[in-house]
Amino acid sequence: MSVLNETHDPALQSWVESANHATTDFPVQNLPFGVFRPQGSGDAFRGGVAIGDQIVDLVALQAAGLYDGLAAGALDACTDTSLNRFMGMGAQAWSALRLALSRSLRSGSAHEATVRACLLPQAQAEYALPARIGDYTDFYTSIHHATNIGRLFRPDNPLMPNYRWVPIGYHGRSSSLNVSGTDFKRPQGQIKLPEAEQPVFGPCRRLDYELEVGVFIGTGNPQGQPVPMAEAEAHVFGLCILNDWSARDIQAWEYQPLGPFLSKNFASTLSPWIVTLEALAPYRSAWSRPEGDPQPLPYLDSARNRSEGGFDLQLEVLLETAQMRKQGQAPFRLALSNFDHSYWTVAQMVAHHTVNGCNLQPGDFLGSGTMSGPQPGSEGALIERTQGGKEPVVLENGETRTFLEDGDRIIMRAWCQNDRTRRIGLGEVSSTVLPA
Ligand code: CA
Repeated sequence: MSVLNETHDPALQSWVESANHATTDFPVQNLPFGVFRPQGSGDAFRGGVAIGDQIVDLVALQAAGLYDGLAAGALDACTDTSLNRFMGMGAQAWSALRLALSRSLRSGSAHEATVRACLLPQAQAEYALPARIGDYTDFYTSIHHATNIGRLFRPDNPLMPNYRWVPIGYHGRSSSLNVSGTDFKRPQGQIKLPEAEQPVFGPCRRLDYELEVGVFIGTGNPQGQPVPMAEAEAHVFGLCILNDWSARDIQAWEYQPLGPFLSKNFASTLSPWIVTLEALAPYRSAWSRPEGDPQPLPYLDSARNRSEGGFDLQLEVLLETAQMRKQGQAPFRLALSNFDHSYWTVAQMVAHHTVNGCNLQPGDFLGSGTMSGPQPGSEGALIERTQGGKEPVVLENGETRTFLEDGDRIIMRAWCQNDRTRRIGLGEVSSTVLPA
């Protein structure tokens, strides 16, 4: 069982006023980690923890010398320009620092005056990727997405027979992963139109987003030593939101026989905060297989995975066009989905990734794959929502979209909410498409 402890108590309040608002993503029960610096300062990036609309500067906090033991060692690791060293310390260290921070940030803490001096408003911060990501693997764990996409690319054979047995994935590229707010140019490449004999070269015409959950690996495994299901989650530091931008026309022409290449590696954008698995403990959900589907092979199965391998994590996609921005209109919701639609769990991704002896390292990054649900309105990509570009989305202001246009900004948000405990969120990721 995921253990709930005093840091999850829904009654906890913080002396940081904004952390007590009902709608904040970052109450004292959350305490996500990221890497930031004061905007425009040119200072070194350093670790931070989000609380309400503020950030606790972990370099300043370390200088205050409030903690000792494992929490002090963990805090020291967070003063680096990336969180890799902290991630590699393991779950006990992550938990010790979380507990110390929780106690310092609670209403009535004797640390209030000291920690208040370590705060920076999030509005005055700029972010970097929270870790140096050595390797990036993108999975394909929503069976609804796999079926919808398969139907468009192969109408006669939408879901490949291996899908229900193997957590499908491919090795992505880490150099083009960016933190939220990093805009990117529309990619160019080879495009072969269905009726044409030969491809043409030019800007992508079918640019799309993919709504995904990102998984940061904490402790790694030695090469040759698979991580069993029972230990898989202990290797996971936490989750963020991932927009895996995709060039559908380039993809359609290049993907056979070796899978996606230039259609996927021009940009992917991550939310700046990583919410730890410990913070997500109150939002775990049971995992099961639909009636009639094969059960997982033993190396992908465990009692704990069945009882609470999933996450009840709501996922949302919003679009703000250049016209909407100019006219001050609110972004338009394109999709609402949930990580619970995943056919394979985070633990199964880790166990499968390492079963052949492949080694993961601190800061490695896994994408869940586009997290579409079964209902209309839960499609995690435009290609599904518009039936391959055949049925445009009509926005509130009358504009239409089949795929993304220059100036479009995509915003993704994620949060956990039920009536038993405190709402927490992953924040948001946003980025704008620039002309080619
Ligand atoms: Ca993807």
